[in-house]
Amino acid sequence: MSKAASQGLSFGTLAIHAGVEPEPVTGAIMTPIFQTSTYVQPAVGEPKNGSYDYGRTANPTREALEASIAALEAGNHGIAFASGLAAIEAIVKRLSAGDHVVSEENTYGGTTRMFNHVLSRFGIEFTYVDAQDTQAVADAMRPNTKLVHVETPTNPMMKLCDIAAIADLAHEHGALLSVDNTFASPFNQRPLELGADFTLHSSTKYVNGHSDVIGGLVAVRDRGLADDLYFIRKSSGAVPGPMDCWLTLRGIKTLHVRMERHNANGQAVAEWLEKHPSVDRVLYPGLPSHPQHELAKRQMSGFTGMVSVDVGTLERTKALTEHLEIFALAESLGGVESLVNVPALMTHASVPEDRRAAMGITPGLVRFSVGIEDVSDIIADLERVLG
Ligand SMILES: *Cc1c(COP(=O)(O)O)cnc(C)c1O
Repeated sequence: MSKAASQGLSFGTLAIHAGVEPEPVTGAIMTPIFQTSTYVQPAVGEPKNGSYDYGRTANPTREALEASIAALEAGNHGIAFASGLAAIEAIVKRLSAGDHVVSEENTYGGTTRMFNHVLSRFGIEFTYVDAQDTQAVADAMRPNTKLVHVETPTNPMMKLCDIAAIADLAHEHGALLSVDNTFASPFNQRPLELGADFTLHSSTKYVNGHSDVIGGLVAVRDRGLADDLYFIRKSSGAVPGPMDCWLTLRGIKTLHVRMERHNANGQAVAEWLEKHPSVDRVLYPGLPSHPQHELAKRQMSGFTGMVSVDVGTLERTKALTEHLEIFALAESLGGVESLVNVPALMTHASVPEDRRAAMGITPGLVRFSVGIEDVSDIIADLERVLG
């Protein structure tokens, strides 16, 4: 469906139709997988449509996916990458040596690893703050700050930050705001509508939703920012393959239906766990006990299937996570099947131990990605192990 035709449609309709046109030769209703590295040019230096010269530069399956994420995120342009980390890297690669980034401290572990061990070697400086406190972000701003990078809800502490307030603050300082929207999904939260400049996903997670692709997606409103990212992707090479783009497009067609069920199951599991005596604390933005529940209701329309709990000790963590049957013990999240993860020893093992401890990522912290199975079976699985 063309951009003009998709104006004014609601999310579920866009999830199915945005970016997708019947294939012109046969009328195939599904976007073909253009599994090709190159294109025949009718004349020297005159590729078809002016752009189809080489697969790294242009691919129609990828373009359909990009139009889809742009529509879902209320943006104008989508840029697809080979992974979520490649998407974040491209946003930071707009900067130059001597520039400064203020980042939320509790991002995905791989994001911190890339900032500290790869990008900082190229002369870009990073300062980490607890972005729950907008003033802490303000205090970290410097004259050379070009980017503020946040994640909300954060992985795995489920902290939120006020996207609209931080967007204003970044802009007052001449910096841009990027929001890692992986945990919320565009169904529950649309950062561009709140003033962010970039919204991005590890589409490996909720956006694709079937645990069968690694991918990254960015959406922006501004043409100049989109051009920067297309140029960086073409120059650095982190392109997703056509098959992965196609799988992600297919996943997106049910995003709204999946997210409704993730939201409902996440809420039910969080409420059940909160009443359980062997769980010390439940971190879920949909619970009134969450310290930022009011902000959650203001900037999100649903609270996802991500639930973190504190059970106190590694012994209790192992007793819980190694005996569940519906929840598989694995990294990653956002797929239709339920997963459980111990961040301190798995997804966030690359974060230095003192920083992990300061953020509350202890061996007693367990992160659930509640899937879309029947919730009675999910809770029965927890009840069997927790008693
Ligand atoms: C998984 C994840 C990433 C990294 O994405 P990949 O697709 O694994 O490269 C980034 N941010 C968040 C919040 C994630 O959960």
